[in-house]
Amino acid sequence: MRVALLGPPGCGKGTQGEIVCKQLAIPHISSGDLLRQAARSGSELGLAANEYMERGQLVPDELVIGLIKDRVAQQDCEAGFLLDGFPRNREQAEKLAKGLVGDGLDRVVAIEVSEPALVARLGGRRTCKGCGRLYHVRWNPPKIEGRCDACGAELYTRDDDREATIRERLEVYRQRTEPLMDFYAQMGLLRRVDGEAAPAEVSKGVLAALDGRND
Ligand code: ADP
Ligand code: ZN
Repeated sequence: MRVALLGPPGCGKGTQGEIVCKQLAIPHISSGDLLRQAARSGSELGLAANEYMERGQLVPDELVIGLIKDRVAQQDCEAGFLLDGFPRNREQAEKLAKGLVGDGLDRVVAIEVSEPALVARLGGRRTCKGCGRLYHVRWNPPKIEGRCDACGAELYTRDDDREATIRERLEVYRQRTEPLMDFYAQMGLLRRVDGEAAPAEVSKGVLAALDGRND
């Protein structure tokens, strides 16, 4: 099954993606994680991408599409995968529909969360430097402050999780990514899930949306 999660920054795509992929035993492909890895590696592509990420803007399509293309060509993706953060604009969605991954996606799940809730969530978010796992200082703190429960590495606040950049990312989402809801609804691929429910409920909703994939 080839799935994409759609939703604004802070809607829980990363957290839900991880849970759902474990359940379904498919790889979780986060475009943001791929870009941050590239940035850490110091590659030319990574450094170029980082300038956009720090400002909360979309990284140019040719950089992102190349990364995704290489990733989905790997063997572990043969039986399916979950995309988190891709596509993020019309051009990327069209690439996906036209050959980037076989005959396109089987389903798109939108996780819906109101704007005030998004701002509150992103403000307290902490990310593991080692494995990318997400925490929240209030709602989902690690057992030991500043350390990842899973791998023990240090937690940090991403540069783009600061207030001004959060606003910019939400704006970019509204303008560029939100229109994809209609695009996928028209293709009959879209299912919507309430992202303000408890995390376990949201996971159930996402799994249910995937289960009925032939309806
Ligand atoms: P969030 O969804 O919380 O904003 P991500 O980790 O998905 O976090 O993305 C972080 C940043 O990475 C984005 O603000 C953007 O700059 C870049 N990025 C991620 N995915 C894409 C994409 N598909 N196209 C362009 N830029 C992207
Ligand atoms: Zn970790």
